[in-house]
Amino acid sequence: MDNIIEVSYFVAAILFILGLKKMSSPVTARSGIIWAGVGMLVATLITYFHPDVGNYLLMTVAIIIGGGAALWSGKKVAITDMPQMIALYNGMGGGAAGAIAAVELLKGEFDSQTFLILAILGALIGSVSFSGSLIAFAKLQGWLRRPMRFPGQQLFNIAVFLAAVGFGVLLIIQGEFNGTIILAFFLAALAYGVLMALPIGGADMPVVISLFNALTGLAVAFEGFVLNNAAMIIAGTVVGSAGTLLTQLMARAMNRSIGNVLFSSFGASGDGDGDSVEGSMKPIDAADAGIMMAYAERVVIIPGYGMAVAQAQHKVWELAAMLIKRGVDVKFAIHPVAGRMPGHMNVLLAEANVPYDLLYDLDEINAAFTQTDVSLVIGANDVVNPSARSNPDSPIYGMPILNADQSKNVIVIKRGQGKGFSGVENALFFGDNTRMLYGDGQAMVGELIEAIKEL
Ligand code: NDP
Repeated sequence: MDNIIEVSYFVAAILFILGLKKMSSPVTARSGIIWAGVGMLVATLITYFHPDVGNYLLMTVAIIIGGGAALWSGKKVAITDMPQMIALYNGMGGGAAGAIAAVELLKGEFDSQTFLILAILGALIGSVSFSGSLIAFAKLQGWLRRPMRFPGQQLFNIAVFLAAVGFGVLLIIQGEFNGTIILAFFLAALAYGVLMALPIGGADMPVVISLFNALTGLAVAFEGFVLNNAAMIIAGTVVGSAGTLLTQLMARAMNRSIGNVLFSSFGASGDGDGDSVEGSMKPIDAADAGIMMAYAERVVIIPGYGMAVAQAQHKVWELAAMLIKRGVDVKFAIHPVAGRMPGHMNVLLAEANVPYDLLYDLDEINAAFTQTDVSLVIGANDVVNPSARSNPDSPIYGMPILNADQSKNVIVIKRGQGKGFSGVENALFFGDNTRMLYGDGQAMVGELIEAIKEL
């Protein structure tokens, strides 16, 4: 039986890796999720036959509660709320790793000092990831609006972190598992997770969630060593390395270092420091905007968070297809942090069956804006804010943006004067070549379609 269990864990781990590989392209991502899910099913079912496992009733109740909650929330969650959902699920992974370590520490039966050290490390990282992810969830859900900062915060945070490490070291040195020290260790680790996430500004949350995701993977891998579970070791390592790469890619997309993300309060002000813009926003109606687009040679469509809110992706594709039929060269420009989660725009446009070859990344499209007749910005704001390029006082200075302002004409669809996620004013909206088409994304694109149909 032992061999069957080992082989099953190995098969599960291979399914995780192949699933992750498939998730790297929108064409195969859906089947990748299924492969990884089958891997998890295999790993869960075979655990019932593990010789060290006996609490079948508790396990089944936990699976029913956890699985039921995931099924319900997965079906119910709006695509715009997906990032906080990911933060929450990720936190659960870190919490589970911490809980495994807690049980093992209370049992106090470690085969070697190395396993004890790994258990402590996993517990520390998992607990930080758990409580930090919960704060990230609360921020993205809008429950915690402003970053919390106080004088001497970094020193205080370091002191709490050192306290957690100190209790951990004490457990290792003593080799005797005193409940009070275990409790103090976990409390300090959990407190550090909260303190680490509290001062971070909203616009940096995606990077932070990705970092917590990497930490959760690492914690699970460490606990996998403690439990001698190959599936946990491999899955944890894969999640840890994928999360680390994603964190680096996202930080690079914002032109920031990870240290800068963690210790500066980018996007924290929200009160417009250094972002005053002169001029006025000039409105346009759908009929005139429709004429501009229908008679253009080249149009670039730039979707952002507002397209997700308005669920306008199907209408956007209807509009693009109509323009293509008229002979207009239409491209979609995708910023890596447009929306509220990595790949957010790709997912929405894929749902609307927009061909992938019309989608261009920031690096691919930016040179094309000077030859673009009309850039149509739908619910995007921060990702097209030229202050990021030109105003060193702007809180988003340095973040690479889509150079929509360099096109001959810009039409911006948004509901009113609302700012972007970072709370910064956008100079693009005040540009001489920009016209504002005010209204809900879906309704306005619908009006554009009607206007073009009449030409
Ligand atoms: P922004 O959040 O900067 O701007 C969205 C704009 O959409 C707002 O200005 C709003 O203006 C408009 N809008 C909202 N609802 C509608 C609607 N129904 N119809 C039309 N317009 C609407 O979005 P971007 O995509 O440009 O930038 C993403 C930001 O989010 C970046 O700062 C990024 O760092 C951050 N972020 C990214 C994550 C990711 O992983 N992609 C995760 C979390 C944050 P108005 O109210 O006037 O309509």
